[in-house]
Parts: sequence; structure tokens; C-alpha cells
Amino acid sequence: MEPPDIERLDERTVQRIAAGEVVERPASVVKELVENSLDAGASRVAVSVEAGGTEGIRVRDDGVGIPADQLEAAVAEHATSKIGDIEDLDRGVGTLGFRGEALYTVGAVSRLTVRSRPPDAEAGAEITVEGGEVGEVRPAGCPAGTTVEVDDLFYNTPAREKFLKRTATEFDHVNTVVTGYALANPDVAVSLEHDGRETFATEGNGDLRSAVLAVYGREVAESMIDVDWTPEDGEDANGDGTGAPAGDPPVDRVTGLVSHPETARSTRDYLATYVNGRYVTASALREATLDAYGGQLAPDRYPFAVLFVEVPAGDVDVNVHPRKLEVRFDEEPAVRSAVEAAVEDALLDHGLIRSTAPRG
Ligand code: ADP
Ligand code: MG
Repeated sequence: MEPPDIERLDERTVQRIAAGEVVERPASVVKELVENSLDAGASRVAVSVEAGGTEGIRVRDDGVGIPADQLEAAVAEHATSKIGDIEDLDRGVGTLGFRGEALYTVGAVSRLTVRSRPPDAEAGAEITVEGGEVGEVRPAGCPAGTTVEVDDLFYNTPAREKFLKRTATEFDHVNTVVTGYALANPDVAVSLEHDGRETFATEGNGDLRSAVLAVYGREVAESMIDVDWTPEDGEDANGDGTGAPAGDPPVDRVTGLVSHPETARSTRDYLATYVNGRYVTASALREATLDAYGGQLAPDRYPFAVLFVEVPAGDVDVNVHPRKLEVRFDEEPAVRSAVEAAVEDALLDHGLIRSTAPRG
């Protein structure tokens, strides 16, 4: 057999392959758009999707907006207003996004419209991208803020389209993402609509319990108890199991809400964890939470939890793959025992568990 020629792929093909890395399903698009709205300082973020997001996704916010002359840059590759160079990255990023690739990649695999008006601009403008083809900037009437519409996701990448699950499953993923951000930002009014029907809408009054009420309903909200823990609360302040005094605690604080053990469901989907304000899926944090309940949960039942873990910025790597929500801790076992202690203390305070088994 003759060795085949090695050829450089054309730009469009490279673009679509790369897009598949970031945009896996409608929920990944929703995640990126909601993060952009939050980064833009929005106090309202309205998400509405059609057919689980496979047919249409719209995210509208009242944030700072994008000036007409910046719209092209907003949808361009590696273009961001959030960091300037690698030093900014090393100093730590305060925004949820910074790679400048979300709008670009979404535009490569859908029909994307970004319509925006900064609050002090007289008129708004919009730009469309269809399968990577960037259109002209046109004037557009719109309220202050930004609306991003994504239609026909993956229409030009049939292989990716085939991986989409049932509409209901895709919507579950969208719901999980939007819920995650709604609970992390009780000061922002976040709403979600599916096929024209409202799923939930938080008030944005800054109260976590009120956000939980909007998202999970009254029964759950009323069964939630407060968690507020700092290393001084535990004898084992550095979390290493030796009872040593606080030297360099791996966790600065754990706050949030956890449910009464009887208010449990058959899935782990209601264990929402955040590290330094970022929504993450960290199995270590989930397991620590479950361990705190000890034997109080019925078999295969999981509680509701919204837990914010604050760790020193240098101890956690957030610069992981954009699609992934996983997080890496320098001192995972110590973080784990701190979270377990935090939840345990709250449950003990309310007499919901009996005594503490030794923490391991
Ligand atoms: P990143 O968020 O990593 O900067 P994106 O591709 O998501 O990259 O967005 C590119 C740029 O477009 C952002 O840096 C921001 O300046 C602008 N932008 C995107 N969405 C919004 C929004 N909802 N409101 C204001 N500006 C936005
Ligand atoms: Mg972004």
C-alpha cells in the first residue's frame, strides 16, 4: 500500500472539528451564553429554548451590551474583552469566560444572531453568522442589553446532530445548567422557558432560599437548612484528620443550603456545588455531602444541596477544558473533609443526624 499524502485541512473543516470540542449539545451553548450575560453584569437573564434547544435557543440580558462596531469582533475567533494576555490569565480571571471562542464556535455550527444595544447607545445593531459565514452588521431595534439567538444547532454537522438525545433529555441538561447559574446568582433574575412554557423564574432579590423556592418549589425550600462553616468551627481546622491547629486551611468557607434527609429524590441531580462561585461537578464534593448524612438517607435517595465552597485561588485549577465542569483541587482529601464537616455541623445543629462518626 502506498502511503497517503498528508494534507492540511481547509479552514472551515478545522473550524467545525474544533467546534465539536466546545459545543457538545444545546446545554453547552446555553452555558456559554448565560456565562456571557453574567460576565456582562446583567441583572436579568431570560433563557428560552425550543425542542430542548435543538431548534432554537435565545438568551436575553440587560447587561452592558456590545457596541455596533464591536459586533464583528464578538463573533471572531480568539477575540475577547476579558483578558489581554497570558499575564492576565496567570493573575486569575474574574470572569466566567475568557477564551473568546464561544460565539465563534457556536456560529460555526448553527445560525447565530447577536443583537445588542449598550444602555447609553441610541440604536441597536445585529450580526448573523450562518455555519461560520459572518454577515454584515445591520441596525436593529432592541432593548438595552444583548439577545443571542441560536437556531438549528448542528444543522451543518450531521454527525454531531446524531448524538443528540430525545428532546426531553436535552432539555434536562439545559435545565440543569440554567438552574445551576440561577442558584449561584440569587441577585440575578434568571428565567427559563421551554416551548413557550415557563419552567422557573427567580426573583433576583439576592436571597438563596427564594431562588431555591423558584427552582425546586415550596416543599424543598422549606426543608432547607443553612450551612455556614469556616475552619475555626472545626477542631480539625486544617482538615488533615490530625486535629492540628489552622495553618493553611484548604477551605476558607462553606455556605449554602442542604435539605432535610427526608426531602430526598432518586437522583443526584439536585446536589449543586460551586467552587469560588463557579458551578462545578466534583464527585468529591458530592460524596462529602452524602457522607455527612450518614445513615439518615433512605437507600438510593439523595438530598438537595446548594453548596458554595471557597478555597484559596491558587489551590484550584479552573483553567480546565471549557466543556468540562470538573475542577481539580491541590488538596482534595482536605477539601472533602471540610465540606463533610460543614454539612454535618448544619445537620447536627438541627438534630437531623445523631452523632458524628469519625471523619475519614
Ligand atoms: P469570552 O466570553 O471568552 O470573552 P465569547 O466568544 O463568549 O468569548 O464572547 C466574545 C466577546 O463578546 C466577549 O468577550 C464580550 O466582550 C462580548 N459578549 C458576548 N456576549 C455578550 C453579552 N451577553 N453581553 C455583552 N458582551 C458580550
Ligand atoms: Mg463567553
